Amino acid sequence: MAEMHPDVESVVLSEEDIHRIVSRMGRQISEDYADKNPLIVAVLRGAFVFTADLMRAITVPCSVDFMAVSSYGDGVKSSGVVRIVKDLDTKVEGRHIIVAEDILDSGLTLSYLVKLLQSRKPASIEIAAFSIKDIPNHTPAVTPRYVGAHVPDAFVVGYGLDYAERYRNLPYVGILKPEAYS
Ligand code: 5GP
Ligand code: MG
Ligand code: MG
Repeated sequence: MAEMHPDVESVVLSEEDIHRIVSRMGRQISEDYADKNPLIVAVLRGAFVFTADLMRAITVPCSVDFMAVSSYGDGVKSSGVVRIVKDLDTKVEGRHIIVAEDILDSGLTLSYLVKLLQSRKPASIEIAAFSIKDIPNHTPAVTPRYVGAHVPDAFVVGYGLDYAERYRNLPYVGILKPEAYS
């Protein structure tokens, strides 16, 4: 196992956990999309690490494109404002879309994205969320078809997830020490 970063309080998902989770998601998607040539839409930047692994766990033909949205800025709290920073280059009309997301918190970001993509008339649209934050008495604004793991209601980093653009390179998901962002 990779050595723990000094700013990380505890590891929530180890490299081994992640491998197991993403392999399972890839198997499910491969079964469901056998002859649909899905377009995986990775939500940058956070989902790029997950998407790279997910694609390699998918054993049927598929393509990938990227969208960049900004909802958190460099902070740790949702602003509720979603800004499209980079749009898709692919025409999605008639395509089977799978939106790949790193972590689902309020779900507001994805709810906005799904509505936007829906207006472009894809054949179908589903969400593959690597992780979902377990928030008591709260249901996210969207329901992903594929869910990797539930993580505690804390600010997590690693496996693509950042704080102020740092920690994306950690190969595991861990809870950031509060002193690292205060
Ligand atoms: P939502 O719109 O679902 O509230 O927020 C989703 C986005 O906020 C995620 O895609 C991610 O970029 C960011 N986010 C939410 N929770 C966390 C977290 O615990 N850690 C990090 N690094 N980003 C988070
Ligand atoms: Mg994200
Ligand atoms: Mg971020």
